[in-house]
Amino acid sequence: MSSLSKIEWTDATWNPVRGCTKVSPGCKHCYAERFAERFRGVAGHPFGQGFDLRLVPEKLGEPLRWCQPKMIFVNSMSDLFHPNVPDSFILQVVETMLLARWHTYQVLTKRPDRLKKMLNGPLREAAAEKHIWWGVSVENRRHGLPRISDLQATPAAVRFLSIEPLLEDVGTLSLDGISWVIVGGESGPGARPMEESWVVSLQKQCKVAGVPFFFKQWGGVRKKVHGRTLRGRTHDGFPKRVNNPSLPATLRLQHARDIEQSALVQIAVG
Ligand code: SF4
Repeated sequence: MSSLSKIEWTDATWNPVRGCTKVSPGCKHCYAERFAERFRGVAGHPFGQGFDLRLVPEKLGEPLRWCQPKMIFVNSMSDLFHPNVPDSFILQVVETMLLARWHTYQVLTKRPDRLKKMLNGPLREAAAEKHIWWGVSVENRRHGLPRISDLQATPAAVRFLSIEPLLEDVGTLSLDGISWVIVGGESGPGARPMEESWVVSLQKQCKVAGVPFFFKQWGGVRKKVHGRTLRGRTHDGFPKRVNNPSLPATLRLQHARDIEQSALVQIAVG
């Protein structure tokens, strides 16, 4: 997988886990599943196992190899807090984020119960870091609103909402402690429609609350046709990024090798 991303709100993707299982209606047309399943059975391909969940220890140190600061979407092809990802592996992913602190990380999940538990427990140190942004997906009221409450119950320094695919009017949200809101419609085959009034409501709520608002896309079967302007303009809000210094190359690469080696040993001994 290339590190560069076409996703409008990030620079790069990093996938130390591949594959996932569906949890809620927002997963129905999961782009990661569609992509991964095209390569099921292709020997030697990173997605030769299709969308079955797989840890990728050899990718753990990847951000340490990137010297220029990037915004990195963590696990664009999975969900870091999936129940089949061991705590020890999540800790190793976070260890890389704590070492390669010149980047900004965007960790997005549909499994906020585990996120809440870990950020209030073994990941408390990482939760306080402003270069790691923790987010939940919100596609509707039933599944999305409890996720927002769980996120608000974490000590995360930067919390964000990815309201995509927006499937209904989610009403008035509590934006207490939320630093960023992304909104987008579903794209690709079978895309479900999104109404302008739902988006405008969210944009206005963000404006009142002083929360940066990013409008990603209208979506649809051919998303380029519909673009990403809302009432005549684009909305590209982001939280403030922190500028942390990089490390000397020899140290960066040594850390990357150490983390990957230690994960491989842990997985081998089971
Ligand atoms: S949680 Fe995310 S990656 Fe997993 S199936 Fe749902 S949409 Fe796909």
